[in-house]
Amino acid sequence: MTDFTMTTDADGVATITWDVASKSMNVMSTAAFAHLSGLFDAAFADPAVKGVILTSGKKDFAGGMDLNVIAQMRAGGAAVIFDGVMGMHKILRKIELAGMDPKTKKGGKPVVAALPGTALGIGLELPLSCHRIIAADNPKAKIGLPEIMVGIFPGAGGTTRLVRKLGAMMAAPFLLEGKLSSPKDAKSAGIIDEVVAPEYLLARAKEWVLAAKDADLVKVWDDKAYKMPGGTPYHPAGFMTFVGANAMVMGKTMGAFPAAKALLGAVYEGALVPFDVALKIEARHFTGVLMNPSSTAMIRSLFINKEVLEKGANRPKVPDQSVRKLGVIGAGMMGAGIAYVAANAGIDVVLIDSTDEAAARGRAHSEGILDKGIKRGKVTADKKAEVLARITATTDYAALSGCDLVVEAVFEDTKVKAEVTAKVEAAVGPDCIFATNTSTLPISGLAKASIRAEQFIGIHFFSPVDKMNLVEIIRGKATDERAVAKALDFVRQIRKTPIVVNDARFFYANRCIIPYLNEGMRMLAEGVYPSLIENAAKLLGMPLGPLQLVDETSIELGVKIAKATKAAMGADYPDSAVDEVLFWMAGQGRMGKKANAGLYAYSEKGERLGIWDGLAAQFPETVAQPDLETVQHRLLMAQVLEAVRALEDGVLTDIREGDVGAILGWGFAPWSGGPFGWLDIIGAAKATAICDTLTAALGARFAAPAMLRDMAATGGSFYPAFKAQAA
Ligand code: NAD
Repeated sequence: MTDFTMTTDADGVATITWDVASKSMNVMSTAAFAHLSGLFDAAFADPAVKGVILTSGKKDFAGGMDLNVIAQMRAGGAAVIFDGVMGMHKILRKIELAGMDPKTKKGGKPVVAALPGTALGIGLELPLSCHRIIAADNPKAKIGLPEIMVGIFPGAGGTTRLVRKLGAMMAAPFLLEGKLSSPKDAKSAGIIDEVVAPEYLLARAKEWVLAAKDADLVKVWDDKAYKMPGGTPYHPAGFMTFVGANAMVMGKTMGAFPAAKALLGAVYEGALVPFDVALKIEARHFTGVLMNPSSTAMIRSLFINKEVLEKGANRPKVPDQSVRKLGVIGAGMMGAGIAYVAANAGIDVVLIDSTDEAAARGRAHSEGILDKGIKRGKVTADKKAEVLARITATTDYAALSGCDLVVEAVFEDTKVKAEVTAKVEAAVGPDCIFATNTSTLPISGLAKASIRAEQFIGIHFFSPVDKMNLVEIIRGKATDERAVAKALDFVRQIRKTPIVVNDARFFYANRCIIPYLNEGMRMLAEGVYPSLIENAAKLLGMPLGPLQLVDETSIELGVKIAKATKAAMGADYPDSAVDEVLFWMAGQGRMGKKANAGLYAYSEKGERLGIWDGLAAQFPETVAQPDLETVQHRLLMAQVLEAVRALEDGVLTDIREGDVGAILGWGFAPWSGGPFGWLDIIGAAKATAICDTLTAALGARFAAPAMLRDMAATGGSFYPAFKAQAA
């Protein structure tokens, strides 16, 4: 084991260096933790050692726990997890107490963590058990405890130590939101103790070790006089914090995220007891979270598979296709956003619209975002100038010369798009890839306007482009491998997450989200309480209820899509119940949020007030209401079955893309790990039974797809089946 090595200098300062040979970022394994423990034992026992510096041989300190450790612990069951976690606590507590006399708290050896860069998860929990944390002033470094983002929480003492260090209120954003900070911000927040110039990091650490007094080694929580900053739950100020925190977290998560609940439990209960008991409570809650299938599903989609897709798991094997010069046609909401993210990633952009004013407005969109960044201290004036200098706003197609990728984001109109395609192809070289950002028009149909259909592809961004991280890449029938690689390389350059799907009406994301909106409107028309519909969705962890989402995406768009779909499907069109709501609303002139009037009522300032009271007269609420579970099953199955059908139809070819795309694209219940993750959690047999019940009551739209029914019959599930298929 060589992840950690220890050397001792002539002044008696031992340096333990973390440097995992096979990885670019240090991650902690079980064996390495045990080895580290042994090194500390040796340092504490060696009379020649006065103190210890814990640092890294890499530019960063550590990225966190090796996820295999978590998987192994989980495989062993609750007792193995609990014992494993308590074992970690023991090691960290040993470092913290540093061989001091437990009564007099004297005679310990100082331990300082010297962080050259990023320190995340266990990479911060370990420093939190040291006596001092010094970080290099490295603006690229991220310091924090992001566990909650993947459905767990800091379980190696990070929760207990941070709350005791900062108080529950101040620790909340770091624990509950996984907020990451630069070293300077981490110092201001009180998470770390010092920030020094990178070249002085080790010298300063050594200086501190040599000067440390006994009192410097006693953690505040080991001091008899310790009082938790901001107060414990039964202190008047603490009471406000804890009551408020519970309400705030429940308000935000609706109890749908097991990790957030467990974290609150660990913090609240831990605050009422001595430190070592609090660690044990933390371990209990952590065990509960790891045993919950939600954490497996979230880690799989939001951590492992998201990264796998970003690294190009489904990229065709063709040479690098990084974009050098991008053309964007249409400087409206989407085009302006695409121009910004590309210029911000260092790509030269030509932004074209039909008038100079519209093109300039598109460029000004970037200016607006950059100005906001400057206000928040995230962007410098130089960076703003540099990004804006990369965007040429014009009406002149000749400026596209030299572009290797052009994305059109003009009106959603086949004729307009066809004209633009021809104009672009006349202006660019023969190798240029042409992409459309259409959200509804099939790619193969639009490609008919192209003289190079093999270089024609869909690159579907989500709104707002600078915030939404998913990009759906759509292969048309004729699209070749180089075009797919180009789109994927572009998405990598702008640091977003891609999924690659095949061409069909609405592709993947919109195909699944539209039935969710529609099911909400069907229930409204049936007389289900709108509040029941919306709250049922939120209790599932959906960010917006279907009716709110209808307003946000606009009734106008809904009507447009309904008309186009009806025209394409003719007699097979299945959504007349939905149209009843959509067309009536349009007739009332209530077009949604943009119009300040929709299914919800809005104030003049555009604040959402509540469900519009005019709905009740048109769609009278029935006396008998469905139960919450039925409403939830309808809302979930509407999306999930469409995802399964997309897989059956070959629109999706990889369930990892289906799950990651669902969470990032439309916020599908993240705790579930995605539609396929959810189906695996409840099991195909139960899912099929739900489908059968819903089909009997509501019709064939809930019929279980053959793939799901087969799984139910054979006891199979999606992820194991997919692994077998991929192998
Ligand atoms: P928008 O109306 O805000 O912008 C369209 C822009 O294209 C306008 O500035 C218009 O002047 C310009 N334009 C129209 N015809 C042109 C032409 N012939 N030459 C040059 N410029 C022309 O629309 P948007 O919301 O940005 O949508 C653009 C495209 O992106 C559509 O295909 C839409 O379906 C798709 N899309 C939209 C969203 C969304 O949420 N709005 C999401 C994904 C995809």
